[in-house]
Amino acid sequence: MIEEAEARDRILAAVPAPVPEAVALEAALGRYSMEEILAGVAIPAFDNSAMDGYAVRAEDATAGAELRVTGEQPAGACAGLVLGFGEAIRIFTGAPMPEGADAVVMQEDTERDGNLVRVIEAVAEPGEFVRRRGSDLCEGQRVLSVGDRLSAQRIGLLASQGIAELTVGQLPRVAVVSTGDELVAAGRELGDGQIYDSNGIMLASMAQRLIPGGGTVRRYHARDEMSDLRSVLARALEECEVLVIAGGVSVGDRDLVRPALAESGVETGFWKVRLKPGKPFLFGQGGAGRKLVFGLPGNPVSAFVTFEVFVVPALRRWMGAREDEALPRPIRMELAEAVENPGDRPHYVRGILDWQGGRFSPTGMQQSHALNGLARADALLRLAAGESLAAGIEVSVFPVA
Ligand code: AMP
Ligand code: MG
Repeated sequence: MIEEAEARDRILAAVPAPVPEAVALEAALGRYSMEEILAGVAIPAFDNSAMDGYAVRAEDATAGAELRVTGEQPAGACAGLVLGFGEAIRIFTGAPMPEGADAVVMQEDTERDGNLVRVIEAVAEPGEFVRRRGSDLCEGQRVLSVGDRLSAQRIGLLASQGIAELTVGQLPRVAVVSTGDELVAAGRELGDGQIYDSNGIMLASMAQRLIPGGGTVRRYHARDEMSDLRSVLARALEECEVLVIAGGVSVGDRDLVRPALAESGVETGFWKVRLKPGKPFLFGQGGAGRKLVFGLPGNPVSAFVTFEVFVVPALRRWMGAREDEALPRPIRMELAEAVENPGDRPHYVRGILDWQGGRFSPTGMQQSHALNGLARADALLRLAAGESLAAGIEVSVFPVA
């Protein structure tokens, strides 16, 4: 049995380098950059007005001053106007500053009378309401690093640089394999001792949520039988780059995933992690290009937690995320009630976030089959082995979507 941190390190070390793919900026949302981009266009690109008002010389614009309006500069092409002493030029937000002007009086601080404008509120200093060229971003400054996630705001910044296409990491095809003779697909009648397969669609949904556009997630089912498992694994290894297998990985006689993987040419990197829920978790590699193979315990909460803790960072890295973009990000919350972990494994406690109150409350049955309790949860709290935490203290919790 290995520790969780070692398990994650070993998984991340095994993730292959991302495969570059050029995509239109329109299709880049949620993907990870494989290029560094330096600014070619300053922000602002030229000195311009931050307000609708009048371009002036700061020294002329004292309270009560009357200035002659000599022209108008809208946003767009520079009208080539030059400001003289005692003059003002009508200007609008985003319009280039006329030569000779060093400040803008906002419209609300003036009174217009024919071709005269009276200053009500004086300009305090040169530069007022002027957005200086390069004050937000200079040419040559870095706007995107390798491994950055393409958020809408980063995409907006790239668009400001005139960029229409970008190299990002390819997206993996993910196989989700449910194993178990007891499983029945939704829509069928439940027989004696049978249950509906809930892990398959839950894990597929987790993968879809993570991969921009929903990705390519294929679902498979295998019976607890060597020949069926082998043929399903062979197909999944053929059709996908990442395999997520649920169930059949524990120590029972009918838990045949490990021997079936071995027979399918998948090498087990490790099996069993000191973690609750999720102890029988397995990681291996096999098939062309040493694909990533995750064996998750069949209990729904164990499957969910091990997917969050191990599979999510691996999928992000696969797509090209920087390490710090790939790892789960905790937030600080007040613990609503005391919790303790008397066990000898770290325990991921499921709970509900009260965003407004800034509190985390453990919820429902904390057992690994308790899918109803899990469904109400929107965050995980990791309790170290033997740890007890008092109500009211601040803790780090991991939001789960
Ligand atoms: P296993 O890891 O195969 O021993 O399964 C552990 C528990 O999880 C058993 O109670 C299984 O019936 C249950 N289980 C396994 N796979 C699924 C699944 N796809 N959906 C719902 N429950 C499952
Ligand atoms: Mg099973």
